[in-house]
Amino acid sequence: MFNVETIRGDFPILSRHVNGKPLVYLDNGASAQKPQVVIDAILQSYSQEYANVHRGLHYLSNLATEKYEAVRGKVARFLNAASEHDIVFTTGTTEGINLISYAWAAPRFQAGDEIVLSILEHHANIVPWHFLRERLGVVLKWVECDLNGDLDPQAVIDAIGPRTRLVAITQMSNVTGTVVDVATICHAARAKGVPVLVDGSQSAVHMPVDVQAMGCDFFAITGHKLYGPSGSGAIYIRPERMAEMRPFLGGGDMIREVTREAVIYNDPPMKFEAGTPGIVQQIGFGVALDYLTGLGMANIAAHERQLRDYARARLSGLNWLNIQGDSAGKGAIFSFTLQGQAHAHDISTVLDKKGIAVRAGTHCAMPLMQHFGLSATCRASFGLYNTPAEVDKLIDALELCHDLFA
Ligand code: PLP
Repeated sequence: MFNVETIRGDFPILSRHVNGKPLVYLDNGASAQKPQVVIDAILQSYSQEYANVHRGLHYLSNLATEKYEAVRGKVARFLNAASEHDIVFTTGTTEGINLISYAWAAPRFQAGDEIVLSILEHHANIVPWHFLRERLGVVLKWVECDLNGDLDPQAVIDAIGPRTRLVAITQMSNVTGTVVDVATICHAARAKGVPVLVDGSQSAVHMPVDVQAMGCDFFAITGHKLYGPSGSGAIYIRPERMAEMRPFLGGGDMIREVTREAVIYNDPPMKFEAGTPGIVQQIGFGVALDYLTGLGMANIAAHERQLRDYARARLSGLNWLNIQGDSAGKGAIFSFTLQGQAHAHDISTVLDKKGIAVRAGTHCAMPLMQHFGLSATCRASFGLYNTPAEVDKLIDALELCHDLFA
């Protein structure tokens, strides 16, 4: 049973006030708040169970290693990967995609090879590919969305040509909430022998994910959006692709033996995890995944669909507000602008005075902003603990903005 009031009680920060008003946290697309169980796990880890992992033979090191390594299986189950060996730990999606760029793509791609991207992408799924454009002469092929923010999967499939070496695409836009039919893209790309990297930063937070059914080669997630600690995350890598990867960061943990003359690497996935990792962050991430699994991703998705529908109905009633990219099946993420002179930063400042946290700016998606012909939007992004009453507070505060800036 999904009871949002009970759930709100799990998140201590939600009972605080901001600028004298009860906090209304609508910036979940940037980062989510943490339930008490995650905070407790961090405290427990540092106060009772902390040591470095993988290298000690003493009690605490073994305990920390056990807890840390257990998270690999939790991530695998969360994404329905076939094995925990398909999971590489990262500090988040940015590192995950950069890992694939450096360890898999860079040693294999050549000048003139193509990477297909959508215009919906976050900079984390653009800039690592620009590196390959700059350094190797790889060509970036862009697929546009329509004005509703919808991306036709067939347009992505049609963009795949004889020189395409990778499709890199988000499953949910962090700006418009657009959900991309990545399974259709993955199956068609696979038939053409082209691997697909899916940016799951937003989608994995809001819907059940099954990487095997989806048929992707890489699926990147970030822990801090999944109600876990910042600096935690993981990437699913199809075993055939993992076997093709060269190590990226070198150092401890990723080796089996080092001599003056040579290195023997550790087995994957540890071959791709160098140095002391975010031990406590990943342990907290595992607890966050347990929390989400306990609530049920399908229940979370159903709750957020109701919020989306209610927010859409209320925002659409404001005839001086434009929702940017209001795709029908999207997640509960709304980017909007106000008609007239009000800048997104001014709107967010007024909302902040009312205790409402939203994000304003380009949302690390400048090509999409250029596509919409905008310099900035305000974004209200909902999470599992938000309520229709908070939508009402957002609307009241936006009406105040309209009065102030009209
Ligand atoms: N991709 C998308 C769609 C995102 O929304 C974000 C974060 O905002 C990222 C990638 C980057 O995630 P991180 O900064 O946690 O690495």
